[in-house]
Amino acid sequence: MSTRRRFVTLLPLAGLGALAACGDKPAPAAPAAAAAPPAPAAEPPAQAPAATPTPAAAPTAAGPMVDPADPAATGLGYVTDASTTKDAKHVAGAACANCALFAGKAGDASGPCPLFAGKQVAAAGWCTAYAKKA
Ligand code: SF4
Repeated sequence: MSTRRRFVTLLPLAGLGALAACGDKPAPAAPAAAAAPPAPAAEPPAQAPAATPTPAAAPTAAGPMVDPADPAATGLGYVTDASTTKDAKHVAGAACANCALFAGKAGDASGPCPLFAGKQVAAAGWCTAYAKKA
């Protein structure tokens, strides 16, 4: 038999021998550290129930009070207490409560004024747009 023919005949046997040698080996063990699953993320802390908002100056249905420091108020020389104004236009007794533009009711401590839409002025307040109520 030629060498070449002998090689071709023996080749399958060599493959079978190699397979048999591999089949006896135990399966490699998985690395213990790598197999451990990652720890679950910590749950977010429970949120405290929302507190009921308590605004410093609770707005009424007519709106919040006019801030005398607001540019619209300073432009008109608005003050929350007419007795404190130093404006030369002010006459004694003039106040929002007896101004033609005051939309509050008699006796109200505050009320709407069309010059400050959505807000209230103090009945004791005053501004340079004052017009005596008829
Ligand atoms: Fe007060 Fe009359 Fe001036 Fe309005 S217009 S802020 S009611 S004084």
